[in-house]
Amino acid sequence: MKFLVSCGLFGCFLLGLSACSDKTETNQTSAPPAATITVYSERVEHLIKPLFDQYTAETGVPIRFITDGAGPLIARLENEGEATPADLLITVDAGNLWQAADKGLLRSIDSPILEANVPAHLQASGNEWFGLSARARTIVYSTERVKPEELSTYEALGDEKWRGRLCLRTAKKVYNQSLVATMINTLGAEQTEAIVKSWVANLATDPYSNDTVALEAVIAGQCDLAIVNTYYFGRMQKENPNIPLAVFWPNQDGRGVHVNISGAGVTKYAKHPEAAQKLLEWLSSEEAQYKFAEANEEYPVNPRVKPSPLVQAWGEFKADLVNVEAAGHLQADAVKLMDRAGYR
Ligand code: FE
Repeated sequence: MKFLVSCGLFGCFLLGLSACSDKTETNQTSAPPAATITVYSERVEHLIKPLFDQYTAETGVPIRFITDGAGPLIARLENEGEATPADLLITVDAGNLWQAADKGLLRSIDSPILEANVPAHLQASGNEWFGLSARARTIVYSTERVKPEELSTYEALGDEKWRGRLCLRTAKKVYNQSLVATMINTLGAEQTEAIVKSWVANLATDPYSNDTVALEAVIAGQCDLAIVNTYYFGRMQKENPNIPLAVFWPNQDGRGVHVNISGAGVTKYAKHPEAAQKLLEWLSSEEAQYKFAEANEEYPVNPRVKPSPLVQAWGEFKADLVNVEAAGHLQADAVKLMDRAGYR
């Protein structure tokens, strides 16, 4: 695993794990050099590095980071304990952040800035983590074989008329676990299980390994609709604006569209907690939010920032305002429920 380091006013710093030093040398000023912030990030390099570079350029604070899946990063934080070099953990999906907080790996932050920039339902009630971008997990359908008038709710994807026409991603993915967890939270386990069973009955084929493959299957005619995170559709649409797919916003007369986050928290054993908090606050600011979301065609969490034109073109929608923490609390229940329903 290698550390990647942000470049800015103070130049680039290439540091190995064993050579972690907070000292940077400069002969231009007598002010003490800023400590390097270390970030463990599930969000991939091309989405975060431009922001880290900008932050370093503006503040002189160097940032080094590693990227990996949430599972390995959380395991690493657990193993390193107090010795961890990590100051900030960034993951996708509230379910992952909830796990990290539940294991005591994040610290509670009292920040009026984060409270003002991040809506209450997109942050931990104990303030251990905060959303930085929002993603809607919604219905994307074939414009060649489905009319939007035929669609209404997630539940209705279990209707007879969709038999053999639905594509889903594997139940092993945390995104689907979070979707089902929030349904359990709102509808109860019994009703949710019946809905998931009805989806399974309508599957065109075994669940796919990822959302992009599910969308490609819709284009290829293997199925007519899928439940995916909007940015996967956005990436395809960016490549090909005439792609024969469209977004549908379900449950607009009810609980709204399932929204999840990518987000971050300052680690329990951060060596530079104040600096890490400042970076987190900056990432939630109007200055950083457009770029943070736009890089992946997501929605800014900061209500004062609009999404990219490509995302805006999908139209406004009513989002489910259930606190995304439910995705964590009910994750184990969701996994068991999907298994019982035959969703693999
Ligand atoms: Fe994703």
